[in-house]
Amino acid sequence: MKEKDTAAYVLPKLLPIFLLLGLFPFGFYTIYHLNYGEMDIGLISLANFILTSVILVQNYFKKELTWQLDALVVSTSCFLIYCCYFLGIKGLFFVFPLITVIFFYYSVRTAIFASSLLASLVVLASFHSMEANIAARVAFPLVMTIVISYLYSSTITRHRDALTLEVNLDYLTGIYNRRNINAWLSQQLKEVDEHALLALYFIDIDDFKRVNDSYGHGVGDGLLVLISKRLAGVTDEITSASFALQSKVGRLAGDEFVVVVSGIAQESEVSIFANKLLNKFKNPLIVENTKIDVHVSIGVALTQDHLMSPDTLLHYADIAMFEAKKQGKNRIGFFNQFIANKVNHKNQISLAIKESLDNNLFYLHFMPIYDVTATKIVGAEALIRNDKPELVAVGPEDYIKIAEEYGLITEIDLFVIESCFKHMQLLIPELDQQPFILAINISSVELKNEKFPDKIEQLANQYKIPPSMIEFEITETSLVDHGYKSIKLLQRIKAMGYKLSLDDFGTGYTAFNQLQHFPVDTLKIDKSFIWAIGPNYTNEELMIDVILSLAKLYKLNVIAEGVEKPHQLDYLKRLGCSQYQGYLLSKPLSWEAFTELLNINQHE
Ligand code: C2E
Ligand code: MG
Ligand code: MG
Repeated sequence: MKEKDTAAYVLPKLLPIFLLLGLFPFGFYTIYHLNYGEMDIGLISLANFILTSVILVQNYFKKELTWQLDALVVSTSCFLIYCCYFLGIKGLFFVFPLITVIFFYYSVRTAIFASSLLASLVVLASFHSMEANIAARVAFPLVMTIVISYLYSSTITRHRDALTLEVNLDYLTGIYNRRNINAWLSQQLKEVDEHALLALYFIDIDDFKRVNDSYGHGVGDGLLVLISKRLAGVTDEITSASFALQSKVGRLAGDEFVVVVSGIAQESEVSIFANKLLNKFKNPLIVENTKIDVHVSIGVALTQDHLMSPDTLLHYADIAMFEAKKQGKNRIGFFNQFIANKVNHKNQISLAIKESLDNNLFYLHFMPIYDVTATKIVGAEALIRNDKPELVAVGPEDYIKIAEEYGLITEIDLFVIESCFKHMQLLIPELDQQPFILAINISSVELKNEKFPDKIEQLANQYKIPPSMIEFEITETSLVDHGYKSIKLLQRIKAMGYKLSLDDFGTGYTAFNQLQHFPVDTLKIDKSFIWAIGPNYTNEELMIDVILSLAKLYKLNVIAEGVEKPHQLDYLKRLGCSQYQGYLLSKPLSWEAFTELLNINQHE
């Protein structure tokens, strides 16, 4: 298609005005010249009048105009040359507006050529019916019109080009941005057929946050620029190998890049390209004299389906990348049916969670925690429950993880905390000063939630709960994975008077000397270690011994969880473990059953 210039922006709105401005003189001259017997001019005017009217009607009904406008410009130009030949100056007047229209409609280069040709021809033609010196005088303002129109339209074109770059390129790296990639991808997807594949590589830098935190954002930005250059290098390499291949690299946001390759003939090439991308990061990058080891996780999604939307393809590649990260980073993940099913399943679970939150379908069970005698209840752990079959099928352990992934966990945690506080408000008068601590599980997501401490303070005030009666449980793994800021946040919660415990202790590979930095009161020995206690006490129990000595060293309380067999309890008692929970002593109970048990226990 012919290159349109300034016109691409202004013409759609101005076209009807231009056409009407032409229609009236064409109509007038048709009547005038036919009336005065100048049949030739009259008939050409009539032809132009009809052509202009047709275009006007087509434009009104939003029909695409291609050759029609070119035809009108050519026929008007011929008409004006003819008029200049017979009418001289009277014909020349109308050349000025036509020149400006040409500059509106065509690219600067085409307009300069066309308008100069038109001006030369009309001046030459007008020699026939006017004096040469007058024709030469008119030529001067004609040249001025061309020059001014040229300056105006080239300025607009320059601005437009700058704007186009700004809109399509990433401001930091200079490679394409999400908008451009999306547009290009949707064009490419329309054109894919069964003979060629289109692959989308979603690239995420591993631990990029650590680069920013350790070296500052300046180095982080510099690194992103270098990474984009490396990726662009790979796309050049790929496309230079075959004419059929087309490729584009872009930055979607932050440390997320995307490479699209279309026209791939064989599926085996898809992983060859992925490996090329991964291998580009074998050597460290140097930013501001700092050598930085960069690794990436790549998610690949491919398609031959022209109905696939860019968003879906990006989403698939993103999921595959996420899986690659979960598998241990610095690797390639391919989107496949297995992943698709997994995602589908997770989507369904997340919908069930949302529905349960909206309709108040979650409730709590309480698992008693016993003291060293294993007869006296000293507290309980609140555990979330839901009767929806799809949630029952997966269990809290798994649906809590999905809630974390789908950003639903904060709402769940707040629901659990508020329910616990409501129950505690009823229980406190019954306790009769007897020591009791309610343990509430919270997600590691809260360790990054600055608003969390304020929220619990507000709820505790509302339900008049003394913080010393509440213990928040966080898993050991989550604490090891989080940094200094999370520990600060826990210190804030502890300073408010709440207790903190490390859940599933022993599974998270805490460097034991790190324990002194964690502001915790209690270690909960993970069930797997309790279950490993054999009836004849073998070496398997070593871990429990270590945990108990550690707790003694750091003056921490210990709760053994998952006690199912009498010999496990005997062993723990012998080693001086002070608190227990588990199916041997009691399963998680409804609130009514739990308070009944507590009552009996209190009055024994
Ligand atoms: P957790 O905090 O380690 O909770 C203990 C889990 O072990 C509970 O499973 C409990 O029923 C089970 N358990 C305790 N003793 C025994 C035993 O003797 N034998 C056996 N076989 N199991 C025992 P549940 O309720 O399925 O919870 C699983 C995980 O889900 C919890 O592990 C916790 O990480 C999470 N979770 C549960 N409720 C909540 C909650 O309200 N909020 C949050 N954020 N997470 C929760
Ligand atoms: Mg727990
Ligand atoms: Mg646990």
